[in-house]
Amino acid sequence: MTPAFFFSLFLSMTAVCLRAAVIRDISDESLSFSVIIERVNANSSKVLIHGDIVPASTRNADPCTATGCKWPKIGSYVFVPVSIGSEYNDQERSIIINALLTFHNSTCIRFVWRTNQPDFIHFFSGPGCYSQLGRQSRGQVISLQRNGCLFQSTVQHEVLHALGFHHEQVRSDRDQYVTILSGNIIPGQEGNFVKVPTNNLQTPYDFTSVMHYGSFTFSKNGQPTIVAKSNPNLNFGNAFQMSASDVARVKRLYGCCE
Ligand SMILES: [Zn+2]
Repeated sequence: MTPAFFFSLFLSMTAVCLRAAVIRDISDESLSFSVIIERVNANSSKVLIHGDIVPASTRNADPCTATGCKWPKIGSYVFVPVSIGSEYNDQERSIIINALLTFHNSTCIRFVWRTNQPDFIHFFSGPGCYSQLGRQSRGQVISLQRNGCLFQSTVQHEVLHALGFHHEQVRSDRDQYVTILSGNIIPGQEGNFVKVPTNNLQTPYDFTSVMHYGSFTFSKNGQPTIVAKSNPNLNFGNAFQMSASDVARVKRLYGCCE
């Protein structure tokens, strides 16, 4: 069977669930995704870097997209095989699938059900919300813990990591736009704020990115850890969905037709 068949199958299985999942997502997400991820992962037994990224010995950042961690493009589309753990109920499964469909609607990424493809993403309910950066060989996981991580923004965030994207606040040019207040960071969490030599794909620094953490992420004292240089009172890190720049970056990295 062709990838196109799986794409069709994928859509047909999920269309009826779209409305219910979107309503649940918005109503439940009174907290920003970065707060959700930080809170859920605070109790995680998983070793994570940058808050929700599984460390890899061979790859650790967006620069990996220049050396092999992109997903392959076949014709006009980038096919990413996926599987979803049986531990999720129908509503939880719908949230994941509908979040994946937002990529179909805005980019050339096409998630297809995995059969025997060697590289794939498996969604499961692990200890927290986390992902790996870019495509890994022989499969990889995205953990979306039940009762904690199942929101459209969180799914999009972790999927963007798997597509090769890092957090907005660690991008290479961030020092022009934000100040990191190291004195307010929880001791031991400073590594979450280390800048990465990212490829920013000619997109502007974006406070509305679903990849941008909030001002108080990893704060030890209730004071901000990240402030905008243009406006110290700017409230950010509250995205409920991918921003226009998030979408533009996916399209540019993967050469989607504009
Ligand atoms: Zn993240």
